[in-house]
Formats: sequence, C-alpha cells, structure tokens
Amino acid sequence: MKTTVVGAGIAGLSTAWALTRRGHEVTLLEQGSIPNPLSASGDHHRIIRRAYPASTGYGEAITDAYLAWDELWRDLGQSHYDPRGFMCISRVQGDEAEIYLEGMSAGGWDFQLLQPDAACERWPFLEPGSFRYAFHSVEGGALHCRRIASGIAEWLRGNGCDLREHVRVEEIETDTGTVRLADGSTITADHVVVTAGAWVTKLFPDLASTLSVQRTAVVYLEPPADLREAWSRAPVILDVGGTTDGYIIPPSGEGGLKFGAGAHRFADDDPDRNRVPYDGEGRDILKLFAPPIAKVDEYTVTDTVTCAYTFTKDERFFAQQRQKCTIVSACSGHGYKFGAAVGQHVAESLERDDFPRLKKWLREGRV
Ligand SMILES: Cc1cc2nc3c(=O)[nH]c(=O)nc-3n(C[C@H](O)[C@H](O)[C@H](O)COP(=O)(O)OP(=O)(O)OC[C@H]3O[C@@H](n4cnc5c(N)ncnc54)[C@H](O)[C@@H]3O)c2cc1C
Repeated sequence: MKTTVVGAGIAGLSTAWALTRRGHEVTLLEQGSIPNPLSASGDHHRIIRRAYPASTGYGEAITDAYLAWDELWRDLGQSHYDPRGFMCISRVQGDEAEIYLEGMSAGGWDFQLLQPDAACERWPFLEPGSFRYAFHSVEGGALHCRRIASGIAEWLRGNGCDLREHVRVEEIETDTGTVRLADGSTITADHVVVTAGAWVTKLFPDLASTLSVQRTAVVYLEPPADLREAWSRAPVILDVGGTTDGYIIPPSGEGGLKFGAGAHRFADDDPDRNRVPYDGEGRDILKLFAPPIAKVDEYTVTDTVTCAYTFTKDERFFAQQRQKCTIVSACSGHGYKFGAAVGQHVAESLERDDFPRLKKWLREGRV
C-alpha cells in the first residue's frame, strides 16, 4: 500500500513508523522541520500517566500506549521515557485532581494518598496548608518529545520512508488520494493520512465546527536554589487542583522545569498567529500556581513558549474518513502519550480497511 502522511508531529511520525515497519511505501510531508517547535509535539517533554476520569476508557488504553512505546524504543535502540511517576494535588472538593483520584480508584490502579504535611515534607516546593491532599503513582512520567521525533525521523530515513521537511501540503483531493504541494507538484497514493494538528482546519475548513483551535503557552523556570534538589527528584504533577488546570514537568532530559495551565488558553483559529509570547506572559502563567506552589516570586523565568492545539467538545480524540483520506487527531491536550499507539492503530485500520475500529479506539480507548 502506498500512503502519504501529512504532518510530522507525533501522530504523523508514528503512523509513518508503523506503516513502514509493516512494509508499506510511505511519504511523510512536514511543513516545518522535524521536530517542528511550533507543533504541539515539538516541545521538550509531555506527561504520560494512567489517571483519567473513570469510564473514559483512556486509563485502560495506557496499557496499549506503553506497549506501543516499548516497541518503538526497541526499533530506535533506546528509550526516551523518564519513569519518574506522577502526582495530583486536590485543593477543592470535586476538582480535577479528585476526579483523577476517582478514576484511579475505579480502575484499580495503584497510588499512594498523602496528607498535606507528609506531602510538604517530601516535596518542600508545596505550600503547607494550601491543599486537601496529594496522591502519587510510581507509574507514569515524562516522554522526551524532541528526542522521540529525531529518533523516529532517523529510523524512517534508514528504513526507506520518503520523509520531506519544509514541504507544505496546500490541498487534498480526497477522492483520488492526491495531495498538492506548495510548489504546485502533486503526489498520488492509495491513501492519505492527515495528522496536521492545529493546522487541519486550513486543509478542511468545515472541521472548524468540530475541532476548535486553541492557543496557550508554557513557562520554563529556574527554581530558588533551596528547592532545586526537591524538583530534581519530583514526579510530574498532572494537576495542581482548584480551577488552574495546571500541570508541571520537573527538569527531565533536555527540558527544564515547566509549568503550564489550561486556565491560560483561549480560542484562536489561526495556529500561525500570536506565536510570540507577550511581555510578562511567563510570569502570568506562574502566578496561577500560587497556591499550592510555595515561593513563586522566587522563581526565575528562563523561557516562555507558545503552543497551538485542537480540542473537541467532549475532549475525546477525533477521526474521520473521507474517501481515500483519513483525518486523525489525538487532540484536546492529552494525546501525546498515546502517540506510538495511534500510529499502530492507524496502520492496522488501513490494512484491515476498518475505519470504525480506529475511530472506536480513538473515541473510547478500546476496540
Ligand atoms: C501545552 C500543551 C501541553 C500538552 N501536554 C500534554 C501532556 O502532558 N501529555 C499528553 O499526552 N499530551 C499533551 N498535550 C497534547 C499533545 O501535545 C498533542 O495531542 C500531540 O502532540 C498532537 O500531535 P499531532 O501529531 O496530532 O499534532 P502536532 O504535533 O501539532 O503535529 C502536526 C504537524 O503537522 C504539520 N502540518 C500541519 N499542516 C501541514 C501541511 N499542510 N503540510 C505539511 N505539514 C503540515 C505541522 O507543522 C506539525 O508538525 C499537550 C499539548 C499542549 C499544546
């Protein structure tokens, strides 16, 4: 089977990897470099964790995710996963951390509940008296995205995939499987897989009612000297409680300490607009974390990075088939961790000619 993949974020790279290793002929087209720092997959690190609201199916699908990453590590000859565990902090009854706790309990997944004093003693960057409880799981951690992208790209080049950087697809003829490139040339294949992330609505404007493009930013920080050691051994923090929708990745791989918050995102239908952080944006993000993070005034902002991604209304993933074209988006701010598994499921659905199976897995976390 001859396949063109449009977009080399984690979904496109993994799809190209899964198809190539199954013996298919693949052309992968990326409008930027690989990794593309403007893409959702282009930052240093992303969180992988079992915690999901009960009954979404995604908690169970993490097993699939880990198996797929392990297969990828075997092909790449090294792992790009830092298994430092994860933690959530609840500040208000019924907040997202509590919903995750219920999901962990319902799934029967292991975790340790910590009262505030014990949590503050173990992780002194937490502000005493500012939260109800924390829970910690030894499973989970950080995926090193840039190393993963470079590693897959190198593997693809060595295994016969036609991988092209700085090539933008302008238009897709879904009935013929033809893509038209910015220089006017065309490529025709048996199938086109579109993994264009936040740029997908430029190719298919009618998807704007289903996939809302959002803009956010994350801040990289240097902690005060007396907290450096605590951060170096901290788990990733999936949720800091309350309404911040805040997450933290401690220094890991080449990435420094990073804070990001769902409370700091807004709709912007053009992923190429607004990509320079405004003055003081990093500090605005940081402020959202006090409490439960102590001494935020003593942190130094080292970098602020903008991001663009898409959301569905129910925050589940997206897939649609249009004749010889499959559009895939593990979106809504939580899809990176499933990256390698997404590629495998897309490849399998194309081989079996079974799109409903792919859609079910993306929407429900199970087939
Ligand atoms: C701030 C932030 C934090 C997140 N945290 C987490 C987390 O902790 N854990 C987690 O699991 N997920 C997380 N996510 C979500 C995760 O990053 C995304 O779900 C995932 O990276 C999406 O990958 P993708 O390949 O679908 O899209 P992208 O990574 O955006 O890739 C799309 C690619 O397609 C290319 N492209 C687009 N149009 C064209 C075209 N016409 N021609 C050629 N190339 C094109 C783009 O340049 C881009 O490289 C987070 C997202 C953000 C923004």
